[in-house]
Amino acid sequence: MNLTNTMLLAASLAVFSAFSADNASIIERPETVSTNHFYLGNRLPLEPSEFISLPIGSVQPKGWLLEVLKRQRDGLCGHLGEISVWLQKDGNAWLSKDGKGQYGWEELPYWLKGYLQLAYIFNNPKMIAESEVWINGALNSQRANGDFGPDQKFDDDGTRDFWANMTMMFCLETYYEHSHDPRVIDLMTKYFKYHLSLPDDQLLTHYWQKMRGGDELYSIYWLYNRTGDAFLLQLADKIHRVTADWEMDGTLPNWHNVNIAECFREPAEHYLQTHNSAELRDTYADFNEVRKRFGQVPGGMFGGDENCRPGYSDPRQAIETCGMVEQMLSDELLMQMSGDPFWADNCENVAFNTYPAALTPDLRALRYLTAPNMVVSDAKNHAPGIQNGGPFLLMNPFSSRCCQHNHSMGWPYFNKHLWLATPDNGLCAAVFSASEVSAQVGDGGQVRVTEETHYPFAEKIRFALHADKAVTFPLYLRIPGWCKSAGVSVNGKKLPVRPEAGKYVRIERKWKNGDVVTLNLPMKISVQRWTANHDSVSVNYGPLTFSLKIGERVERVDSAATAIGDSGWQKTADPMQWPSFGYYPTTPWNYGLVLDAAHPEKSFSLKKLAWPKDDYPFTPQSAPIQILAKGRLIPEWTLDKYGLCAVLQPIPAWSDQPVEKLTLVPMGATRLRISAFPTVSDLPEAHRWQAALEAKTGKPEYRVSASHCNEGDTLDTLNDGLEPRSSNDGEMLRMTWWDHRGTAEWVQYDFAAPKKISSAEVYWFDDTGAGQCRVPESWRLFYKSGGGWPPLGAAADFQVKKDGWNRVEFPAVETTALRIEVQLQPQFSGGILKWRVK
Ligand SMILES: [Zn+2]
Repeated sequence: MNLTNTMLLAASLAVFSAFSADNASIIERPETVSTNHFYLGNRLPLEPSEFISLPIGSVQPKGWLLEVLKRQRDGLCGHLGEISVWLQKDGNAWLSKDGKGQYGWEELPYWLKGYLQLAYIFNNPKMIAESEVWINGALNSQRANGDFGPDQKFDDDGTRDFWANMTMMFCLETYYEHSHDPRVIDLMTKYFKYHLSLPDDQLLTHYWQKMRGGDELYSIYWLYNRTGDAFLLQLADKIHRVTADWEMDGTLPNWHNVNIAECFREPAEHYLQTHNSAELRDTYADFNEVRKRFGQVPGGMFGGDENCRPGYSDPRQAIETCGMVEQMLSDELLMQMSGDPFWADNCENVAFNTYPAALTPDLRALRYLTAPNMVVSDAKNHAPGIQNGGPFLLMNPFSSRCCQHNHSMGWPYFNKHLWLATPDNGLCAAVFSASEVSAQVGDGGQVRVTEETHYPFAEKIRFALHADKAVTFPLYLRIPGWCKSAGVSVNGKKLPVRPEAGKYVRIERKWKNGDVVTLNLPMKISVQRWTANHDSVSVNYGPLTFSLKIGERVERVDSAATAIGDSGWQKTADPMQWPSFGYYPTTPWNYGLVLDAAHPEKSFSLKKLAWPKDDYPFTPQSAPIQILAKGRLIPEWTLDKYGLCAVLQPIPAWSDQPVEKLTLVPMGATRLRISAFPTVSDLPEAHRWQAALEAKTGKPEYRVSASHCNEGDTLDTLNDGLEPRSSNDGEMLRMTWWDHRGTAEWVQYDFAAPKKISSAEVYWFDDTGAGQCRVPESWRLFYKSGGGWPPLGAAADFQVKKDGWNRVEFPAVETTALRIEVQLQPQFSGGILKWRVK
């Protein structure tokens, strides 16, 4: 330790000692006056690192995390090279020197990002060799101008698609941490010089890469911290400039679930360079805006079953597996940038409650979408209840192209960030799981800390120190935001500090071999209300949320026959070896909870069971904690016309069904689940649940069809009873004939049974000022009569008024079908928000 740093460290310790007794203190953030001597944090003039991640291999998983990573190694991730068409080597653009060839997009680096870490965690020679084939492919592909990787260009303007390279750079960084191969530094330096030389209008030109420039920004700073090349800071500003604006007030540039989870951290990254704390706040604002509109649900994520869509914020809306693992990585990186334990809390929430349910327990198959309320997981089309049409809910190892590859990084990065280095040469237990960390600390001594725990299924975490000789350094322990009564002891002696939720305990002492620190995080049952989703309730116990235990029937189906349309697999991949699985309920799921009004948490009791012998707690059978509850069936709550559990309704819901004992199990263990519950009451003032019409009649009241409907819009909500506020009501779903312009178009209702009608009302969609849809030039109404389609109403009655209903009355007719024909305005498209008939 040099003199300057010794003095700085002494100064920082003096600050701490003012608040501490017995070398222990409670702090909000680590002090950044000193710089870690052993691990590379941010280089000036970047904002100093609050925490620094340790090189790959420093953290070894234990307990359930080790079991999960073993299953990942032996499951889909470990074998994807034998299945995915994008990972076959023959003709692969990732292995070609000039970037020509096939399969040269995100899939390979998505997979390699996690697979490579897995190879190092298990020190598996075969996996390391396999990884290095691809790493060398990238390293050998650099062209004279500095570009590397597959030479993907856009058809329309010939500019380069750099998106996949952003992900490959994360792989190269992991490889460098392990190998210190100077070719990585050389390649990245030349590549970034090439980017600096490109005019703005040739850099991050199209959708995905424009949204995701924050990933490139991360790697620019990674390299800058290692080389100090000043041009990199110039490039960082340029990349920020050409990236989509994630610093907008009260909105986002884009509502795609993966883009959000991955890109909301971009302002916080750029803050490292500008020191403008407004940019750091913008990242929090993005997070909060998404949670406010679409994240009023348990599990740490939000409803974005492809995109977040206004009107689709019920807990039955899903999130993509890519969205989960990107959110976890963003949380882990934000912990280091901001020092705020809030991000570790969110990371644990997603990791424990949401992500495990996206895969089968053996980690051999996964699904694209998972929702907090999800009662069927099959190969059927559920659009537009979820946005995508196709088999998006089936556990299929041949399918879900992006998630199939990208899921690989979820647990390895989680493992890497359990432990972080601190600026004052210490260590922080940031996210909790059984593990062992090896690191240099204090004045250079080597220490191992073994973390023994069944957390998040247990309250107690035991840290055992191993060191050849005594070494003085600070140990930081994160106190989760949910824990109001944490306690810490060293060698059995309780520390005289009162740990505060959402802060850190810092213990500085001369640590000796065999020292033991015990962190106790008492967990309590608590009830969370989601006021924006009809006051539905979730039940938490510490970091875990609980879901209704639903009996599962698991049905094996053919993977090739049920894959999503854009899937691709190798000729030798055997669907019999890699089957798919649908999950169906065998017990009722449509319960509301009976709650003690004054003390809701008293409505539940805890049941602890044995730790699973196979160390895998994420199934309804093996989870070692259950919560017992009481509820009544709500018979009217059924699947809706999309085959999804119908959206929630006002509570308490009225039910006179008998009160039953219910078992709740950890949400992460349930592939079928209800996690946001209605409450029930048999009192007369309770709300009557409105049954889905389809449930009564067995078939829809009517079918809607049109000459055309834009892919992102829907015909299904034209007659849902909602009242638009204007013709450009952004909260309202709509149908549009986009991108047809100036054409004659139609939309039609076909009734299940002859219907008597005497009026029709249309609310036109018109986005003047924002888009290219206008009220039509004219329209008419026709009804089916025998073999013909006579008109209804008088021509003069057909108005094309904006921001209101356009009503037509006529002598009653009985018919089985009704059709609107429109003539769109020249050059413009058009659409309808609502169409009511009586
Ligand atoms: Zn995905």
